[in-house]
Amino acid sequence: MGAPIVPMQIQRRAVGPHDILIDVLYAGICHSDVHTVRGDWGVPAYPCVPGHEIVGRVVSVGEKVTKFTVGEIAGVGCMVDSCGTCENCLNDREQICLRGTTFTYNSPDKVSGGTTLGGYSEGVVVSERFAIRIPPGMDLASTAPILCAGITTFSPLRHWQVKPGQSIGVVGLGGLGHMAVKLAVAQRAEVTIFTTSPGKVADAKRLGAKRAVLWTDREALKPLANSLDMIISTVPYPFEVQPLLDTLALEGTLVNVGLGEPRGLNTFAMAFGRKRLAGSMIGGIAETQAVIDHCFAHGIAPDVEMITPDQINTAFDRVVDKDVRYRFVIDFASRKHAVASTPDAR
Ligand code: NAP
Ligand code: ZN
Repeated sequence: MGAPIVPMQIQRRAVGPHDILIDVLYAGICHSDVHTVRGDWGVPAYPCVPGHEIVGRVVSVGEKVTKFTVGEIAGVGCMVDSCGTCENCLNDREQICLRGTTFTYNSPDKVSGGTTLGGYSEGVVVSERFAIRIPPGMDLASTAPILCAGITTFSPLRHWQVKPGQSIGVVGLGGLGHMAVKLAVAQRAEVTIFTTSPGKVADAKRLGAKRAVLWTDREALKPLANSLDMIISTVPYPFEVQPLLDTLALEGTLVNVGLGEPRGLNTFAMAFGRKRLAGSMIGGIAETQAVIDHCFAHGIAPDVEMITPDQINTAFDRVVDKDVRYRFVIDFASRKHAVASTPDAR
């Protein structure tokens, strides 16, 4: 467990009638990939191929496919299958299918009988139902992170109906956090960033936030007491939640999308402010399409740092060290273009 990522051969399932084969061009690195590979959530199934922010070109389609034609661009996010008939699936919540969502990697694959393998890969086969249309003209490298970091922060902003002028806090300025800031600013909310990294404070204004607070200094939180309508926390490791809850206004909600455990809840402080602590899980397929279209329409794009496949392990270390500004994206495209333009290399 925790072994480095190395190149290997894998077998994809044959393209079924409703499947498409995508030639992967870009794959984002999510902290969930790091959690999985490094054993934070237990021992993964091996081989483990992470990656659930995938953008690529459709190179083959099954005979019954209607959503894509060969040559178009498609995206794949965090899930690749669900029952399609339960109450959640029927209401665009496939990510919390009552019979079990099939996630893009490290998940039992009901179709092949094996384990799903993700997007750090030359190609993926996916049902068209779980593939997202990418509008022509969209920048492809920076589209990849929208498929997880974007949807995971867009969904709670929509569900809790964030309105212009509301005060929104974002905890942790990483992949999810910087998308939360951009999406909330686009809603004309007034955004406060809570960071543990002094070096990121200067980025607050560039990202459109009103302020950034170093929340390692509990005194710095005091002027914000009882002021925020909603907080989205993206912290990946266990953290003290009460100092953040104290900044919520009456009936405010802290949505914990980061998968670190919130600790130290003060029942009395919660009761006296009728405050709420909530969770949220990515978003459904229709909502994922909506966030892609929304970002394209409003010119919202993640800040990406491009890497080559041989730099993945170093990138993982930098993610853990909070040293990503603000999403690593693995570039498979340049290599493919280079090969394609060199006839001798075929
Ligand atoms: P990321 O890029 O590493 O960003 C997380 C940020 O949290 C860091 O940049 C850092 O920001 C802050 N942070 C890190 N360690 C911390 C600590 N020990 N205490 C306080 N703050 C800390 O990670 P990400 O890709 O955005 O993912 C964040 C979390 O969301 C992960 O746990 C991931 O598994 C989870 N996730 C959940 C969903 C969902 O559907 N619910 C979907 C995707 C990912 P500062 O430097 O600003 O402090
Ligand atoms: Zn993710």
